[in-house]
Amino acid sequence: MKKDMKKIYRKLILCLSMLLYITTGCNKTKEKIVQQEEYMLGTFIQAKVYDSNKTKAKKSLEKAFKRVEEIEERFSVNIPTSEISQINKNAGIAPTKVDEEVIYLLRKSTYYSKLSQGAFDPTIGNLVQLWGIGTDHAQIPDDESLQKALSIVNFNDLIINEEKSVVSLAKKGQRLDLGAIAKGYAADEMKKNLIEEGVRTAFLNLGGNVLTIGSKPDGSSWKVGIQNPFTTRGNYIGILEVRDQAIVSSGNYERYFEEEGKRYHHILDPRTGYPSNNGIISTTIITNQSIDADALSTAVYVMGLEKGLALINSLADTEAVFITNEKKVYITSGLEEKFHLTNGEFTCEKR
Ligand code: AMP
Ligand code: MG
Repeated sequence: MKKDMKKIYRKLILCLSMLLYITTGCNKTKEKIVQQEEYMLGTFIQAKVYDSNKTKAKKSLEKAFKRVEEIEERFSVNIPTSEISQINKNAGIAPTKVDEEVIYLLRKSTYYSKLSQGAFDPTIGNLVQLWGIGTDHAQIPDDESLQKALSIVNFNDLIINEEKSVVSLAKKGQRLDLGAIAKGYAADEMKKNLIEEGVRTAFLNLGGNVLTIGSKPDGSSWKVGIQNPFTTRGNYIGILEVRDQAIVSSGNYERYFEEEGKRYHHILDPRTGYPSNNGIISTTIITNQSIDADALSTAVYVMGLEKGLALINSLADTEAVFITNEKKVYITSGLEEKFHLTNGEFTCEKR
């Protein structure tokens, strides 16, 4: 990534951390804050550990970030040697031997594809490439290319053989993209590593995928801002109070380009091949594991308000915030006490 881009991202992250997270400014307990920030998985990852032992905290963070490096090497479609790239190269040709964590993530992906009736689909890779959203060659694809890419999006063609630890894609040219779930998995792995090192209080933010360990050092809940999708990063419409949970958002403001006044964003509808366009412009999931929150936030974004709400309400320990293009906010019942609307331009309804 270019240096000036990095600088811009650094500034953005700084604003983000100042506005998005209203953490305790003054910490009366003996815990010290140790912070590390790295550009990985195509985003800035910021981790804060609160611990009385600074050396231990630093070491634990190093270990957690090392783990993310491993995950990136294994799952990135931008690394030709990654296991996912190998599966893509072998599509329609041969099965690929993979590590058990690849099986785990692909199993989860298939689970959410089925649960969302294909709204979440990890075989969306060709469409993602074609649109190039978030890259310097983002464009509206011509219809022929779009139909061709769309014709081979099908999560049922992802075949997982757990016993033999092999994975295959049924058709030539099919391509996996785990952009909608891998960051969530990486967050869970960071948390696991930190806990193994004895960390009891931490706040992780993987480019908007937030995962918390415990509560704030003073015992109160973490307060996480929900991004206002109509403005630039750092403006929020409300605050969520959480403890020891994951909060993951998907939004049309994250990666997009505009042409003739129309916004083309990065969450694609596998039925049309176009950016999802159903009135929903932001979804946030609150649950225990970040991998689930990540997959679900993308899934319900594409499913839309009614189907998405019905899915979330059918799941245990899972809550959601939906925002529509008419500035309406819908929250599930478990958030009644935990979500506070702070922006008067929006209205909020419990569903
Ligand atoms: P997220 O920000 O977690 O909602 O994930 C969006 C990213 O996942 C995109 O940048 C694509 O790489 C990929 N993606 C886009 N649409 C879908 C979809 N319908 N199902 C699965 N992955 C998708
Ligand atoms: Mg996601």
